[in-house]
Amino acid sequence: MNAADTRRRVVVTAPDTIEIHTEAVPELKDEEALVRLRVSGVCGSDKAGAHGEHAFFKPPYYPGHEVVGEVVQIGEAVDEVAVGDRVTAEPTLVCGHCKPCTTGRENLCDNLEFFGCGYREGGMADVFTIPASRLHVVPPSFTDHQAALIEPLATPVHAVRLAGDLAGKTVAILGAGTIGLLVLVAARQKGVRRIVVTDTLASKRELALRLGADAVVDAARSDLAEAVRAELGESADVVFDCVSIQPTVQAAIQMVLKGGTVVVVGGARRPITIDLPVVQEYQVRIQGATTYRAEDFQDAIGLIASGAVDATDFITAMFPLSRAAEAFAAMGSGAEVKILVTAEDEVDGAKLHKQGSLP
Ligand SMILES: [Zn+2]
Ligand SMILES: [Zn+2]
Repeated sequence: MNAADTRRRVVVTAPDTIEIHTEAVPELKDEEALVRLRVSGVCGSDKAGAHGEHAFFKPPYYPGHEVVGEVVQIGEAVDEVAVGDRVTAEPTLVCGHCKPCTTGRENLCDNLEFFGCGYREGGMADVFTIPASRLHVVPPSFTDHQAALIEPLATPVHAVRLAGDLAGKTVAILGAGTIGLLVLVAARQKGVRRIVVTDTLASKRELALRLGADAVVDAARSDLAEAVRAELGESADVVFDCVSIQPTVQAAIQMVLKGGTVVVVGGARRPITIDLPVVQEYQVRIQGATTYRAEDFQDAIGLIASGAVDATDFITAMFPLSRAAEAFAAMGSGAEVKILVTAEDEVDGAKLHKQGSLP
């Protein structure tokens, strides 16, 4: 099957400037697949990237790393996928031969490139090229919306793995956006004794309760750390900071005293300061967490297949590719959970609530 000669694709040309360009479909390399878009999530990192505020890449960039599509053509050397496969991408493009790659930490590849975040290709396009080795075939039972949650869930799965054994432990999750809520889902599978979730928005706190948080706390409280400790009944063994700004990291350290772990999983935009004497004297572990490995993708697929995640809880708005700028703008309010850009032009750009007719 041959794709059309031209494609539309979303380009963030400058801070807060999101355009649709029509251009030639790129030449397919031997190890690449050509994939036709079905849906692509808009990520918190896209929000930062589109504002020109991402710590590791700047516009112009080609967004779309939470992508689901159908393989329409494969390069000569490709045997990982076949034409017609429905796939999602593990967007970390790794070299395979550096120290992290050869020691089981390829998400930290020294030569890492990131599909949809600074790389020459991203998923918000009618068709796109990607190394076929980074594609995972989506189980046939999954809806596109479930498949669109595989990549976002893989990050929390990885963060929970890095936290160590959570059985019988107390956990706090700061921030109930997509990452925080999916950390909640992933942590609940690990036998956690009690989980408290914080957010400034009442709607997100309610969603966290519905997804199994034992208690929620308004993150705007000035005594946040004490309030969380009160709800936990003790200090937190592990805090997942899904916001990663000065006040949240500071509060997280206060919550885990003494001897606890702070997992920094939310995309951090700028340096902050920490109370190093406290970290040292109280033996606090600060653990960064970024992206995922193939095993995290497989676990995320398993979690979704098990019914632990209901896509309709997470996907709160959809926009056609031609209106991608509106999808990015909708990220601004913070009220949405996961926003999708879809290939189908007939989708009404108005947001579709979960009570509505999402497939
Ligand atoms: Zn993302
Ligand atoms: Zn590498």
